[in-house]
Amino acid sequence: MKKIEHIGIAVSNLKEAEATYSKILNVSPYKREEVAGEGVLTSFLKIGESKIELLETTKPESAIAKFIAKRGEGIHHIAFDVDDIQKEMKRLKAEGFQILNSEPKMGADNKLVCFLHPKSSNGVLIELCQEIKSDP
Ligand code: ZN
Repeated sequence: MKKIEHIGIAVSNLKEAEATYSKILNVSPYKREEVAGEGVLTSFLKIGESKIELLETTKPESAIAKFIAKRGEGIHHIAFDVDDIQKEMKRLKAEGFQILNSEPKMGADNKLVCFLHPKSSNGVLIELCQEIKSDP
């Protein structure tokens, strides 16, 4: 575990949320990316080393749609940067944490990701992410 990579915020209107967070952070979003497998459209803002990921659903049955229906907009997950996601998944599994996907999957922003079930981490959905290194 190296640092907090980003904080994910579930929003109902990405365009409005981008405008709001652009005002708060005084920077513009640097990228928008759809993660089709998750049914989300993401937008990233960065200040220093800290990133905010805004997440809007693209499908009624996506995890973000369900989250907003149940809890409203708000902080959805905290993502931690790791060097070796397989190794961290193995370590946390051995510690008894429930990992939501058995294999790392492709996330936004060129990352391999996996999630820990919020019930094994005090109600907080935790994402591990490993940067995919491009071929030299
Ligand atoms: Zn994330």
